[in-house]
Amino acid sequence: MSQDNVRVRFAPSPTGPLHMGGVRTALYNYLFAKKNNGTFILRIEDTDQTRFVPGAQDYIIDAFKWCGISPDEGPGIGGSFGPYVQSERKDIYKEYAQRLINAEKAYYAFDTAEELTKMRDEAKKMGMPNWQYNGVSRMSMRNSLTLPQSDVEQLIASKTPYVIRMKMPRNEDIRFEDEIRGWVVVNTNNLDDKVLFKSDGMPTYHLANIVDDHMMKISHVIRGEEWLPSAPLHVLLYDALNWERPKFAHLPLLLRPDGNGKLSKRDGDRLGFPVFPLNWTTIDGELYSGYKEKGYFPDAFINMLAFLGWNPGTQQELFSLQELSDTFGLDRVSKGGAKFDPEKTKWFQQQYIRSSSSKDLAEMLNDAFPAKLSTAERITICELMKERATFVSDIVEDGAYLYQKPIGYDKKVLSKKWKENTPKLIQEWQGIIESIDDFTSSNIESKFKAYLEEKSLGFGAVLLPFRLLVTGVGAGPGMFDIAAFLGKKEVISRMTSGLLEIEKIKNEA
Ligand code: GLU
Repeated sequence: MSQDNVRVRFAPSPTGPLHMGGVRTALYNYLFAKKNNGTFILRIEDTDQTRFVPGAQDYIIDAFKWCGISPDEGPGIGGSFGPYVQSERKDIYKEYAQRLINAEKAYYAFDTAEELTKMRDEAKKMGMPNWQYNGVSRMSMRNSLTLPQSDVEQLIASKTPYVIRMKMPRNEDIRFEDEIRGWVVVNTNNLDDKVLFKSDGMPTYHLANIVDDHMMKISHVIRGEEWLPSAPLHVLLYDALNWERPKFAHLPLLLRPDGNGKLSKRDGDRLGFPVFPLNWTTIDGELYSGYKEKGYFPDAFINMLAFLGWNPGTQQELFSLQELSDTFGLDRVSKGGAKFDPEKTKWFQQQYIRSSSSKDLAEMLNDAFPAKLSTAERITICELMKERATFVSDIVEDGAYLYQKPIGYDKKVLSKKWKENTPKLIQEWQGIIESIDDFTSSNIESKFKAYLEEKSLGFGAVLLPFRLLVTGVGAGPGMFDIAAFLGKKEVISRMTSGLLEIEKIKNEA
């Protein structure tokens, strides 16, 4: 079912590189917009200047580009609801904080950082470790609810630093219906008087977020579960400003592969998989690896992410971005955390490499192949190797024997499969190869089978040693395809020199 005037946003704070959980949130917003002929907006929430990390905004935009997720409105893109960076909208927010004060939904608080720390410490000593500025404690603090109006005016006139806090009502149930979780009910006694406007003249995330969502006509707020605790406050703010609430959808957390806890940025490289779309180097020179640089295709990465918390309700697992856009809906997003599985991610990548055209793969490997190889040879190598590859680099690395002689012989195969009579059989088989005129895969195969039949030999007795001599390893694409690709002369030369080499190894052992 498509919905009217869908406008959704992805609203990251540029406090570091975008984690794959963030990319998933962006993806679901994008897919939801596409599915409903809506608009997908990128908004940068940089009101917390102390946590600003240079390069983070560019990283987000680069990651989007790599993934193929393109916002319809945003910084550098334009749109009629800009600017899309909150620090550039600074002057907008004060007015709304003022409106809340006038409506007695918010108040000025003059408490200094020292006073607040003192209060917390004293509460701790009295056995209350989680002191909060709230409906009870606010009455013993220095704010416009406790000070005489003339003092308040004088403090403001003399430019005493203050914050503006939400005046959280006492004992009210806040209700809203989450598109994924159903009804959420929170009593205001469990909520504190959050700061809405800071002494540095900037709004906090909460105020800026709802003002912008309102002004940008956001219809659905789709974001991570970690924002669910903030939603009741947001709902109250919409109500306090007499604005229509958007719909909310809080996405399930991404969990570690072992299911224990939230996937964090430290988990990835520790457990051997990337957690970021692109490489990121911190100012201290620490590198976090990215899917792109590890060799994942963006389509595989996106397909994998789409399934972390959503399923189409069918058996189909491979979806292009377009198919996802046609299929996605919040009704099939799960409530429970989505366990990340690095093996499944590899599986997606394998499917995508297999379904890529060999010509495209050869182009991607343009610089990786030795210059001597012709385009046709490169394409055939890709065709032979892609079934067994995960990354394009595997094609060149695992398939090196397709363009150079083996550099050694797999010891395990050698000790297990190289028998007393192997050299004799190999020599017989080599004699047959020499007699094959039309050196095609099917010709080689039928001659091979005839030879086995004549000698009453099992398949493995000759095929494995043959593979070992020609490739140096015990497994790979069809051996007759390999032989046909290398050509008769090369195959015979590898068999002859390999035989000598292996005999030498055997004698030394
Ligand atoms: N700026 C918040 C973040 O960094 C946005 C949360 C929301 O979408 O409301 O994720």
